[in-house]
Order: sequence, then structure tokens, then C-alpha cells
Amino acid sequence: MKTFANINEYVLSFPKETQMLLEQMRMTIQKAAPNATESMKYGMPTFELMGNLVHFAAYKHHIGFYPAPSGIVAFKDELKTYVTSKGAIQFPIDKKLPLALVTKITKFRVKESLEKAKLKKNYRVCENGHSFLKSSDCPVCPQCEKEKKPLTGFISLLAAPARRALENAGIKTLSQLAKLSEAEVLALHGMGISSLPILQKALKEKGLTFKK
Ligand SMILES: [Zn+2]
Repeated sequence: MKTFANINEYVLSFPKETQMLLEQMRMTIQKAAPNATESMKYGMPTFELMGNLVHFAAYKHHIGFYPAPSGIVAFKDELKTYVTSKGAIQFPIDKKLPLALVTKITKFRVKESLEKAKLKKNYRVCENGHSFLKSSDCPVCPQCEKEKKPLTGFISLLAAPARRALENAGIKTLSQLAKLSEAEVLALHGMGISSLPILQKALKEKGLTFKK
């Protein structure tokens, strides 16, 4: 199975019409869960908020939406016309996506995640009011980190077009950058050759390199 470094790569691997549906899903979920972070998990575009929030994926005949079994049970009446299983909903690819329903289900999952997280010992609320689970590999608020990283991190060293190239590719951290080869980075629209030494130096400082 081909693996994708980020959601953009995943989306771009599909035909144009499917790409549009995937972007609709992504934007709808982003709006319904603005504090969630994007990732790729189990080979699928994923939104995380103190754990997995929802996943989605494209298939030949449907878009799959995975809001956990609880997200399906809670909306079973509204989902009657769709094929569902314990953890998955199928939206036919030749019909309009029920984006209002995706919004409702995602918001339900946000509420559920928060309630669940509050019961955990490592539940924290940062000074900016974001809820998060403190973990040993990430002791700080991930939302605050996400918001400030482009300003203080390696991305701030780059010229604006190169910065936008990385942002458009969903690259926000050095470990994400290290998953790409030099050729792949240079292929990003707006990335100039003069940015390479800056990125190499930033990677090296963290003990990382571009993918060989
Ligand atoms: Zn915060």
C-alpha cells in the first residue's frame, strides 16, 4: 500500500472529482473542529483532538467517514439512507455529500472527546483555554504550539513563497519535513533552491536529514 506523508498527498492521488469531495470533507471537519489537528493514520486522513476524532477516505464508489461507533449510533436515524457499519459510513461518490450532517457528527465527537478527556488524570487546560492531554512526548498545549510554530520555527527563516509552499503542503514541523526527499521539497510550487541550505541546517540541528 502506498503511504502518504500528509492529507494533501493523499487527496492528490485521486481523480479530480474525488479530490473535490475529499476537500469538502476536510474543510467541513476543520470548520466543525477548529482545534483538531490533521494527520494521516491507518493510511487515512485523520483529525485528532486528544485522540482520534474522525477519519475519512475515498474509495471507488464512496467516501468513507469514520466518526467512531458512538458517532454513528447517535445519528442512526439521519443515517438511515446510507450504508453504515459499526465504525464506518459510506457516502456514495455520485451524490452530494451531506455536509450539514458531517458537521453535526463532528461537533458531537468534539463534545464527546472533551467529556472523555476531562475524566483523565492528564487532562489540562492551557492559559489560552485549549483543552489537551499532557503526555510525556508532548507536555505543552498542542494547539498553542501549532499556532506559534510557523512564527518561531524553521519556517520563519524562509522567504514568503517557500514558506507558503510548505504551508500548502501541510508541512509544519521538521519531522514532517524529514519525510520528504530534497527532490520532493524542490518540486513544491514556490520552493527555491536557496531555501535548501536553510532547511538542511534546521533539520541537522534536530538530528534529522531529508529522506534519502
Ligand atoms: Zn493552548
